[in-house]
Amino acid sequence: MTAFKERVFSGVQPTGNLHLGNYLGAIKRFVALQDSYDCIYCVVDMHAITQPVAVWGGPKELMSQTREVTAAFLAAGIDPKKHVVFNQSQVPEHAELAWVFNCIARLGWLNRMTQFKEKAGKDRENASIGLYDYPVLMAADILAYRATHVPVGEDQKQHLELTRDIAQKFNNDFAGSIAARGFGEAFFPLTEPLIGGPAARVMSLRDGTKKMSKSDPSDNSRINLTDDADAVAQKIRKAKTDPEPLPSEEKGLESRPEADNLVGIFAALKGVAKADVLADYGNAQFSTFKSALVDLAVDTMGPIGAEMKRLTADPGHIDAILSEGAARAGVLARETMAAVKDIVGFVRRA
Ligand code: ATP
Ligand code: MG
Repeated sequence: MTAFKERVFSGVQPTGNLHLGNYLGAIKRFVALQDSYDCIYCVVDMHAITQPVAVWGGPKELMSQTREVTAAFLAAGIDPKKHVVFNQSQVPEHAELAWVFNCIARLGWLNRMTQFKEKAGKDRENASIGLYDYPVLMAADILAYRATHVPVGEDQKQHLELTRDIAQKFNNDFAGSIAARGFGEAFFPLTEPLIGGPAARVMSLRDGTKKMSKSDPSDNSRINLTDDADAVAQKIRKAKTDPEPLPSEEKGLESRPEADNLVGIFAALKGVAKADVLADYGNAQFSTFKSALVDLAVDTMGPIGAEMKRLTADPGHIDAILSEGAARAGVLARETMAAVKDIVGFVRRA
């Protein structure tokens, strides 16, 4: 097997409010990976526009949300000097590579993608082609850097499998050309998803069977990173639960989705396992447990929200970080794209 340089890539869309699911399932884990990998973290603005304008809010909103997601990365502890932070549309190779991958990916593969089905809903005829093609652009985001590891929430598992399928088919279809160009057996790595921990899938506070999402019309369904302490307290107190006290063993959380979700959130915020939380709160009533969860959530999230507000007050500073990151990402992506052109057989300027 060809050996690939280890590299982490992940992205977050600048649509709507960043929430606790994005933080615990993705951003908090991005921060932790900085010590062991070279990391590239991207604000995927080209993905945001795949949804109807009413969802992403138009040009002004897109710009401010792009800066807000960047601020969240920085406030959470991502270091844009040691690692790379940028917005997708500043590196055109993402779109260019997506075209090549459009010719690799099969309709049958994309027809199986559940995110498209969920987001398009009943009015599929009216969904954008971009929404359908979203997973191919995502494969290009990752493979433009030949990234080996991608931290994401559970909901993105299927898209990462598609990324591996695209990489594998490219490696097979062009095996001769890849070897002739000196890249060995494979040009693209089969990227490993990094999914896991107690908050890989944070659920809605109103419905334990639905994922917490930016696009949920009910603001009470999620905790936003910029919510103040009162809002956090109110949303947690109102969160749906069942009438039983908490179990003392993890097995007791099965078929209790709301209880499982709140215990998972507590565990992820504290950086412990669900079993440890139950060792402390087993047999407690929800009122007691919710009070402890409010304190923990406010202590952890409060400083991040405050730092985000401080950072977004200076958009010039954020834009400078994004353009510096884009320049560094561009060097890597251009190198990949030049090799892809040679492998595919596109004549290019020397
Ligand atoms: P949208 O509803 O617009 O798709 P989103 O909340 O899913 O928004 P994304 O920008 O699509 O946000 O995802 C950013 C990252 O957050 C991804 O890694 C995704 O897997 C993760 N993520 C999103 N929702 C959750 C959740 N409820 N629990 C854990 N991780 C999540
Ligand atoms: Mg999503």
